[in-house]
This record gives sequence, structure tokens and C-alpha cells, in this order.
Amino acid sequence: MERTLAIIKPDAVSKKNAGKIIDMIEENGFNIVRMQKLTMAEDHGKAFYAVHKERPFFGELVEFISSGPVVVMALEKDGAIKAWRDLMGATNPAEAADGTIRKLYAESIGKNAVHGSDAPETAAQEIRFFFHDL
Ligand code: ADP
Ligand code: MG
Repeated sequence: MERTLAIIKPDAVSKKNAGKIIDMIEENGFNIVRMQKLTMAEDHGKAFYAVHKERPFFGELVEFISSGPVVVMALEKDGAIKAWRDLMGATNPAEAADGTIRKLYAESIGKNAVHGSDAPETAAQEIRFFFHDL
């Protein structure tokens, strides 16, 4: 059984879309191994997104992810990493397929409702970043 890290980002939490997104996660057969609501400090956001530190939108990304509460989850399912990215949809909601979370709830390429790990190594690292016992 594979695990991945999911984050419901501040835009979706503030618009009260977290429950609907969690419902989609459960309907799509994921097991929620851990779940926590928290607000990331700016330094925490910088560390989490360190891989993007050279990208032009890094400052904006860190400011956004630490702008309000998020819901962080460790999800489990066969092929969880790809399955969660498929359910999220494309990074840019304008390119996201119908029925995906980003198509339904993202407002822009930056404020795009959800995060998902992109590979087994990053999934393990990101899960440990929030859930030290996993
Ligand atoms: P994904 O979240 O789909 O894995 P990336 O890893 O490429 O996408 O980017 C991380 C996050 O950075 C995105 O989810 C989004 O919030 C933000 N981001 C990506 N591209 C842009 C952009 N061109 N302008 C502003 N923010 C962006
Ligand atoms: Mg990514």
C-alpha cells in the first residue's frame, strides 16, 4: 500500500471546501492515515517548498501557504501518489480535467486548493515533515 502527502491549501480551507474535498478523497478509496489542521509559519512554508526556491513565484508561494489554516493528510491506497495527483487535476485549474478537485475548487495556478507529492522519495520526505511517527 503506497502513501502520499495531501494538503488542502488556505484558499480551499477559507472557502469551506475542506469537507467536500475530504469527501472526494474517501469516495475515491483512499484511507486517511493521519489528518491535522494547522497554520504553517513562514519558515515552515519555506522549508516545505525548498525544492521551488529558485522559481520566480517562490515568495508568493510561501506567503500563500502560510496565510491561513491548511489541512494536512497522509493518504494510503494502491498507487496513491498518482491516484491523488489524478484526483487533484493539473496545477493550472484552466487545464484541469472535469471532475478534478482543482477544476472544481482552484481559483488560479497559485491558489489551487490542494497539494500532492510527486514521487515516492518526496512522498516519504513530505509525510515525515508533518507526521514524525510515520
Ligand atoms: P503541483 O502543486 O501541481 O505539484 P508544482 O510543484 O509545479 O505544482 O508547483 C507547486 C505550487 O507552486 C503549485 O501547486 C502552485 O501553488 C504554485 N505555482 C506553480 N506554478 C506557479 C505559477 N506559475 N505562478 C504562481 N504559483 C505557481
Ligand atoms: Mg509539486
